[in-house]
Amino acid sequence: MLKTAIPSIYPPEGSYEFSAVHADLSCATPGAKVHYTLDGSTPTAESPVYRRSEGLLPLKGVHGSSVRRVVRAFAVADGMEPSPEVSFTYDFHCFPKGSYRHSMLREPAPDAAGLIRIEDHDLDKMYLVIGSQRAVLVDGGWDAEGDLLGLCRDLTGHALPIDLVVAHGHSDHIMQAQRFLDAGQRVYLPHADLDLAASFGVHLTPEQVTDIGDGDVLDLGGCTLRAFTIPGHTPGGIVLLDEASGDLFASDEMGSNRRYVPDSAWLQMNPAATAESVLRRLDAFLEETRGKLRRIFTGHNDEILDANAYLETFRAALKKAVDQGPAGLSPSLRSAAESFGSGTAAIVGDWRLDPCWAAANLRFLRDQDRDADPPRYAPGFHPDITTNLGE
Ligand SMILES: [Zn+2]
Repeated sequence: MLKTAIPSIYPPEGSYEFSAVHADLSCATPGAKVHYTLDGSTPTAESPVYRRSEGLLPLKGVHGSSVRRVVRAFAVADGMEPSPEVSFTYDFHCFPKGSYRHSMLREPAPDAAGLIRIEDHDLDKMYLVIGSQRAVLVDGGWDAEGDLLGLCRDLTGHALPIDLVVAHGHSDHIMQAQRFLDAGQRVYLPHADLDLAASFGVHLTPEQVTDIGDGDVLDLGGCTLRAFTIPGHTPGGIVLLDEASGDLFASDEMGSNRRYVPDSAWLQMNPAATAESVLRRLDAFLEETRGKLRRIFTGHNDEILDANAYLETFRAALKKAVDQGPAGLSPSLRSAAESFGSGTAAIVGDWRLDPCWAAANLRFLRDQDRDADPPRYAPGFHPDITTNLGE
């Protein structure tokens, strides 16, 4: 009797500093079922069968401590002998709250801004852009307690004012805003996202924070950052372009396509966004920035993306949803519960193979869906699941 191939997994087992990894089980024998356990017990024919369409398996760490997660699995195909059991071990070592890590990506030079990436305890990414007169920190992370401003001052030799630009109002980008204000630093936040920030307990007034959006230019001395409003992921979200280098700081508005915790543009979080409206805005943005984009730095992605390759894929994903309707959607890689309520996404490219794969989880496809009364949800959207950020 032929033997079923042993199951394989993605991403590889090992040590991780993320607070979550989403694992995919599969088997090289066509049609084989993979039975698995996550509680350390021996998998049997009665154990759950893994189905990617129901969402990748979330394996989670705990901030400030070390945790081991073990996936045990075997595969069996009709008319074949079951495979031997295999196990996959994931050790999570997550940073405690209040800790930051930083890495120099480019030293300041007369013709180029300095660039330092800072990560908080959950590896949310912030970018310190250093000009000759000012520095700008793009995004403020998820941790209200750590001394992020103190770190930025140390990293710039206490020589420059440091402005904070919060590119959108989600909780994992805005938590240090009040500390910057208390220290007398200028804080920018799109005013269209003030209500969103307040929903996470960060109450800021239009008098406290400077609005930022289309056409605004921040002059850092020897370097300028130009803002573009991209109202997809949130109502007022912006991206910032360093026009000299072609670096685009995109927060969560673009480039959210991590592999180990498969991310998406998460357009379902913004009840005003449709695939159609975001595609329209994206096309105008691409026209305005033609020939100027080089790299994308995002709020969560470890990889620095090729801007043109990624945006081509992202555009193709949105266009697929607009042109094909529900037929252009696939099950979200993360389950609906892990995808902030949206079980369907427009996906182009393979998240394991292509660093520029793109996905957009959606609540509405076309403007008429959003505007309908009652609204017509895209299949797979669960309106009862409330958004709980970490993204
Ligand atoms: Zn966000």
